[in-house]
Amino acid sequence: MTTADMTSSGTQTGAPQGADAPDGILAARRTALASKVRPGARVRPEHARRHNRVLVLQALYRAEGLSRADLAREVGLTRVTISDLVADLIADHLVVELGVRADSRPGKPATLLDINRAGFAILALDLSKDAMFRGVVTDLDGIVLHREELDVTGLTGDDAIEAAGVVLDRLQQAAQAPVLGVGVGSPGIVAADGTVLNAPNLGWYDVPLQSVLAQRSGLPVQVANDANSAALAERTFGGADENLMLVRVGRGVGAGLVIGGSLVWGASSAAGEIGHVVVGTDGGETCACGKVGCLETWLAMPHLRERLDAAPDAEARTAVLVAAGERLGIALAPVVGALDLGEVVISGPLDVLDGPLLASAADTLRARTMASVHGHQAVRMTELGRDIVVLGAAVMVLTGQLGVS
Ligand SMILES: [Zn+2]
Repeated sequence: MTTADMTSSGTQTGAPQGADAPDGILAARRTALASKVRPGARVRPEHARRHNRVLVLQALYRAEGLSRADLAREVGLTRVTISDLVADLIADHLVVELGVRADSRPGKPATLLDINRAGFAILALDLSKDAMFRGVVTDLDGIVLHREELDVTGLTGDDAIEAAGVVLDRLQQAAQAPVLGVGVGSPGIVAADGTVLNAPNLGWYDVPLQSVLAQRSGLPVQVANDANSAALAERTFGGADENLMLVRVGRGVGAGLVIGGSLVWGASSAAGEIGHVVVGTDGGETCACGKVGCLETWLAMPHLRERLDAAPDAEARTAVLVAAGERLGIALAPVVGALDLGEVVISGPLDVLDGPLLASAADTLRARTMASVHGHQAVRMTELGRDIVVLGAAVMVLTGQLGVS
C-alpha cells in the first residue's frame, strides 16, 4: 500500500463520525455508496478493488467478528491487501473495530472487526397490502427500529404514488442514522429498473416508481415485486436454501424465485407469476383473467374463504383445504423438478394455509417429483410473518449498496 493510496482512501477521514456528520458529508457519502465509487479515487484497478471490498463486507456480514487474519484466510487475499481494504472501509464508516479477541495470545492481540451494523439505517416499504402502505426503518441486521402505516383505501394512480412518498418522508424523518438506501416491495410486475409495469389494484401502469421516490428522497431506491422481495427476505433472514421458491398467497397468488442465491427476473420481469397457470385438465372456476381453473381460483384467499364458508362441516372444510393444497402441489412439481429447488416456502394467512393445505401440497409434490432426488423436498410456512416484504426490501438495499446479503 502506498502513501498515495492511503491519502486517496482517506478523503473522508476528516469527517465527523456517524450520525453526527453534517448533511453535506452524509449526502456525499450516500452518493459515493450509490455509485459504489469512492470520491477521490485515482485511476487504478478499481473494479478488482470494489470486488474485494464486497468480499470483505460479505465475510464480515455473515460472521460475528473476524480479525484481519481471519479475513485474509476467508477471502483468500494477502494480509497487506486486507489491511488496506479494511482501512478504507473504516474510513467510510462501513466497518468498525470491536476490540481485542478475548482468547488472544499475549503479545499478539487480534482486533476483531465487524460491519457497522447499527451505523446505518435502511428504509423499507411494503405496498402490497390491501388498503395499507407499511414502512419500517431497520438497521443492517434487519432489526426493525421504527414503523409507519398509512391507510390508502381507495387510492390509485398518482394519489397512491404520493401516498408512498408520504410514508417514505416519514421514515426518512424517523431515521436516527445515515440512510444507506430505500427498498420497496410493490404489487404487480416490476421491471429490473424499478418501473412498475402493471399493478392493476393500484392503477399503476409503467410507473417509474424507483426514480420518482429517488428524486423525492435524494436516496438510492430499489423497487421489486413483493413476492420477489419476500423471497430475498427468506434467503437472507429466514435461513432458506439458496435455491428456493417463495409462494405468496393473499388476494392473488404470486411467487419469487431465488436460484444460486440470486433473484430470477425472467424474460418479461414476470418470473414467479404462477397465479394464472391453469392447474389440471378438469375445468374449475372461471378466473378474473378469463381462463378456467387458474391456480388463483383454487388458492387465492377470496376464493378459498368463500369455499370454506360454504362448507357445511369440519370434514368438508378439510376437503376444501386438501383440494387447494393438491392444486398448489401440481403447480409446484414441474418447477421444483426443472430447477432442482432446495425448498418451497409459503407466505400468507397461517390459519388457512398451515395444516391440511400445506400437508396436501407437500404430499402432492412428493408424489409428482423424482423421489430419490426431490423426495426430501421441504414445503414450509415462512417464520418471518408480516414483515417478510419489508425485510426483503431491506435485503435489496444491502445487496444494491454494499453487495452483501
Ligand atoms: Zn387466471
